[in-house]
Amino acid sequence: MLQLGKLEAGSRHDLRVGMSPDAPADDDADDREGRFGYAHSYETSSRYDGPGLRAVLFLSGCLLRCTYCHNPDTWHLKDGTYISIEQVVSRLADFAPALRSMGGGLTISGGEPMVQLAFTRRVLAAAKDMGLHTAIETSGFLGDRADEKFLSVLDLVILDIKSGDPDTYKKATGRDQAPTLRFAERLAKMGKPVWVRFTLVPGLTDDPDNVERIAKFVAPMQNVQWVEVQPFHQLGAFKWKAMGIDYKEANTPSAPPDLVKRVVGQFQAAGCRAR
Ligand code: SF4
Repeated sequence: MLQLGKLEAGSRHDLRVGMSPDAPADDDADDREGRFGYAHSYETSSRYDGPGLRAVLFLSGCLLRCTYCHNPDTWHLKDGTYISIEQVVSRLADFAPALRSMGGGLTISGGEPMVQLAFTRRVLAAAKDMGLHTAIETSGFLGDRADEKFLSVLDLVILDIKSGDPDTYKKATGRDQAPTLRFAERLAKMGKPVWVRFTLVPGLTDDPDNVERIAKFVAPMQNVQWVEVQPFHQLGAFKWKAMGIDYKEANTPSAPPDLVKRVVGQFQAAGCRAR
């Protein structure tokens, strides 16, 4: 029996490694029951991860390896803290009245929340029971795992579309683009609200054609409420260094304002509501 740890308040910018050395492999994470999970940390006052004031729970486990990832300490379950659903629900209940009064809710991010699908679903269901708006931030790579039961407790999907060009997607993430696009199309078909996020990395994802492909894909989707362009920054660089992993973007500059303006303009010109 694994020992439960403490659900840590903190920030996505905190470095957390080696909290659960006995955790299972990352691609075998879902215990189907979802009574226990692995978490990096949580924040309680985000204004960027969904409508209103958000509590954000960062879960461990991700199958992508984005070269620009700000949180490589969320890639492996073993780096997260082993926690129970009861721990999360009881902590969330403390914040629920404030979140409700500020028109907000709970966002589960990571890592990738669909690695631990059953645990994520249980947390979202508990949040819905508290009258909270629910969201996940996901790459969509595991979108095929999201069954009706999972989607029924989800009000919003913040979907990271990391690249329009499939080869660039592979170069940036180490994985295929197709599952993400498939998930986006499925969400569009069912009318599930989506915010699309695009990380703008100079020299990697900033090619006009790469942006144009996402813009044209997303523009006809009536369920996409926002396209958010997120400029690359170096706030996560120290984590790569501390963890001793090769950081390909060590010399990549932050995305400058004129580049961000061009890319937001491309999305808007295609008919997207972009910011
Ligand atoms: S999907 Fe997110 S957590 Fe996973 S490697 Fe990419 S940026 Fe990092």
